[in-house]
Amino acid sequence: MIEIDRLSKSYGSAQVLDDISFKVAEGQIVGFLGANGAGKTTTMDILCGCIGADRGSARIFGCDITDDPLEAKSMLGYLPDVPPLHTEMRVVDYVAFTARLRGVPKARIQGRMNEVFTKLELHEVGGRVIGNLSKGYRQRVALAQALVHDPKVLVLDEPTEGLDPNQIVHIRELIKSLAGQHTIILSSHILSEVEQVCEKIIIIDKGKIVEQGTYGEILERLDTERVYILRVGGNAARLATELATLPALTPPRAASAETIEFALRKDAPADTIDKVAMLVIDGGYGLRTLNVKTKSLEDVFFQVTH
Ligand code: ATP
Repeated sequence: MIEIDRLSKSYGSAQVLDDISFKVAEGQIVGFLGANGAGKTTTMDILCGCIGADRGSARIFGCDITDDPLEAKSMLGYLPDVPPLHTEMRVVDYVAFTARLRGVPKARIQGRMNEVFTKLELHEVGGRVIGNLSKGYRQRVALAQALVHDPKVLVLDEPTEGLDPNQIVHIRELIKSLAGQHTIILSSHILSEVEQVCEKIIIIDKGKIVEQGTYGEILERLDTERVYILRVGGNAARLATELATLPALTPPRAASAETIEFALRKDAPADTIDKVAMLVIDGGYGLRTLNVKTKSLEDVFFQVTH
């Protein structure tokens, strides 16, 4: 598991991380979400021992990255935002080289490379020079160097950045398939990616953690009211004025001749929606659909960072 405890970091007068704490449970896949400059890379660089923190600690399965960096790093695979590729090397030579660097026993290197090359579909480019590969393949080679020693923890900094849509889907599926065997933290500013891939979300803004939990938990905390979309046969404006007499609703708004949007306060009596439906049916408006408008991760992100 990963434990980040009260981490702070400044560059000159700029406080880049301000007392951040979070945990990632064993086998969990967590999305680390934030706008450009929020502090994602800085956190990951500290977690992986690339830079030091001013205060606080980062532990990998109980092992402190500062006190025992060799032991902690042996459990880590890191895909940084700029992957450490030796572009003049052939894929097989580079991955074998990183396996040796990470202490994979000589007798196991070929076996590990086969497993990783199969998983990442790299066999067909194994003999090619890295610098001549497409961006998608270079990213897979970068993932291979992070995975070759079968680390317990994977730290992936914007793993799909710059890839085309097909490659993005492939890398996402691959990351999902790694959950369970590895504890994974991946950073992204692509909200839909985090929603699709991760069980838990941590949102960082200007160096502070502003939300963390499952998507459902975060929604529950932020949701003070539930927005509904009501579709009727017609006369939505007249119906909106009738609905406005129900006390637990925010003023209903006719979005078109057939559609009304309204919000139900969280503390509204349980039968309020029954009353809405009765007003529609008794008034002869023709009930077509009545749906809760689900908040997207974009809405949540906007809400917690503004
Ligand atoms: P992005 O999505 O753009 O990669 P990020 O969330 O990963 O952003 P960081 O790279 O952690 O953000 O940067 C956080 C802040 O720290 C930024 O304002 C950045 O300019 C600053 N920063 C990072 N490294 C240094 C450095 N070596 N010297 C000075 N400032 C730095």
